[in-house]
Amino acid sequence: TTPKPPVLTKSEVGKDAVHPGAPLVVLENVNKHFGALHVLQDIDLTIHKGEVVVVIGPSGSGKSTLCRTINRLEAIDGGRITIDGALLPQEGRELARLRSDVGMVFQSFNLFAHKTVLQNVTLGPLKVRREKADVVTRRAHELLDRVGVGSQADKYPAQLSGGQQQRVAIARALAMEPKVMLFDEPTSALDPEMINEVLEVMRDLAREGMTMVVVTHEMGFARSAANRVIFMADGRIVEENTPEEFFSNPRSDRARDFLSKIL
Ligand code: ADP
Ligand code: MG
Repeated sequence: TTPKPPVLTKSEVGKDAVHPGAPLVVLENVNKHFGALHVLQDIDLTIHKGEVVVVIGPSGSGKSTLCRTINRLEAIDGGRITIDGALLPQEGRELARLRSDVGMVFQSFNLFAHKTVLQNVTLGPLKVRREKADVVTRRAHELLDRVGVGSQADKYPAQLSGGQQQRVAIARALAMEPKVMLFDEPTSALDPEMINEVLEVMRDLAREGMTMVVVTHEMGFARSAANRVIFMADGRIVEENTPEEFFSNPRSDRARDFLSKIL
């Protein structure tokens, strides 16, 4: 078994903190357009191993696009992105391999409707990584237990609640043994009573040292689990800080305005 990366405790993190983890995801001067729309503008962002970064900002500010560029669901027009030191290539087998270093969980759970819960979790490791079935199946059961849906393995997604489906989606992403997990509004499509069971799984992951980028409107999660909050507006990172500092003392007018509307 590989040693777990160090977990950053809040006291270790701050504007000037030395991060115990090495840089894992590095974006340098990343730019992206959709036609005339400059959706990501000069993004510089380094995410360290074991760090939990929460991304917030108004609708349309580029949060989802940022996530999608990190695993190359979207190409970038300028700049560079490295994952664990490897440059993200434009296409090909190498891209497929590097992409599997990045797990992604979406707002809409995106499970395969005609496959069982277990099959949803084993598919990637079997088809993409060509691992042995017995190894993959054992790991899938462990992951389903870990996210609290071990007894649902033989059901189909439609037989599960939204919260259970999203936890299966997390297990499915973890089955590829990613180096970093991206969550794009993972609880936004859930009924309120199911939000916490998903956030609790995410908190556990964070405690275990997983490197995570989380786009969310759940400010309680940001306060309790994030090492750093990034505030985006109009395709730019306008502000970044510890959650304590960001929520109590936002520096930009944009952030103050945003927080006054949601808190
Ligand atoms: P957020 O997640 O912060 O709400 P998005 O990254 O989804 O923002 O979108 C940022 C901007 O880019 C929005 O104006 C959106 O309409 C636009 N956009 C997103 N995806 C596409 C696309 N595939 N084609 C054209 N415009 C897009
Ligand atoms: Mg979005």
